[in-house]
Amino acid sequence: MELSRTITGLNAGGDDGWGLFYEARRRKAAGETILELTIGEHDIGTHPAILDAMHASAKAGHTGYAMVPGVDALRDAVAARVAARTGVPTGRENVLITPGGQAALFSAHKAVLDPGDLGLFLDPYYATYPGTIRGTGARAQAIACRPEDGFAPRAGDLRAAAAAGARSILINTPNNPTGVVYGRETIEGIAEVAQEAGLWVISDEVYDAQVWRGAHLSPRAMPGMAERTLVIGSMSKSHAMTGSRVGWIVGPEEAISRLIDLATATTYGVPGYIQDAALFALREGDWLEAEVGAPFARRRTRAEEMLAAQQVVGLVPSGGAMYLMLDIRRTGLDGEAFAARLLDEEAIAVMPGESFGRAAAGHVRVAMTLEDSAFAEALARLLDFAARQSG
Ligand code: PMP
Repeated sequence: MELSRTITGLNAGGDDGWGLFYEARRRKAAGETILELTIGEHDIGTHPAILDAMHASAKAGHTGYAMVPGVDALRDAVAARVAARTGVPTGRENVLITPGGQAALFSAHKAVLDPGDLGLFLDPYYATYPGTIRGTGARAQAIACRPEDGFAPRAGDLRAAAAAGARSILINTPNNPTGVVYGRETIEGIAEVAQEAGLWVISDEVYDAQVWRGAHLSPRAMPGMAERTLVIGSMSKSHAMTGSRVGWIVGPEEAISRLIDLATATTYGVPGYIQDAALFALREGDWLEAEVGAPFARRRTRAEEMLAAQQVVGLVPSGGAMYLMLDIRRTGLDGEAFAARLLDEEAIAVMPGESFGRAAAGHVRVAMTLEDSAFAEALARLLDFAARQSG
């Protein structure tokens, strides 16, 4: 039986870019020791206090259907967090709780794109983005960012792409894969083009708690932008709750009200004991997020020192998230060849820049997700390996 064009077109055929990751996992399963710096998964688990709250909630009976938009207390806590961080008045009516940021990304696009519409995203990009947009039946178009701009988008490029009749643009700051935190000028440029061209901005801010340099700025906080911005948030990265699947969309009340209809027709909400655990975690305040983020800040500082002591590998100027984007063009290899050889010769797995689109060719993404000493050892070996290739 034939399946829909929407679902068969999700991955647009061919390699999904994760070949190196699968190969590293295959070797690991076969007993090899691989230093894995591939996916955005913390090396720590969810904090025991959060797990206790989850357990207590389940024991107290919160195992039945929960309110589809999210329980009021959690919607209020998310609204308060967003309002405090962005200065934009935000209430419960602006918040939908979702099963993770990924479901929020899909739902947000579904809310603003009809089949055949054009949705924009920026290259390099988080791997799911094109499929997320295509999953709504819309067309997905990448806008290339450039290494010489530190992978921040140029307003002129956005304007040109928007002129083709786009309805939305998806941005991500702090960025995966580059770690770049967009500055005020970049956010203002995006806001200006969105207003000129009548675009919705879908702003993926799942790394907003992990900023080591500069400050996180949400386009929703720009004048006139709250009515055309849907912000994606998640407990995955900020609280090491990747497996709990809890996130949110923040946006205008009318959009959230329609998104509740969509949630009723799709996910039917998020388990109550997961929501209670998220509520507990948010009520704990900043210390918990700081504790989850601290290892990445520490490893990043160490990496900067190591990178400053050599001339072959460059670091894309970045300030957030759990990744480093390394420019390895001076080795004469592209990202794919570099990553494949590094895996073969050093048993170290990093992601080729090419896995995240075309713009980051000649780069590799390093996830800072190994314990400090193993991380430093892996990076030292990677730098030696790069020096040997270039020499
Ligand atoms: N956006 C970005 C940029 C991500 O890196 C991820 C996870 N790797 C997500 C969204 C989705 O996260 P989750 O569904 O776990 O909230």
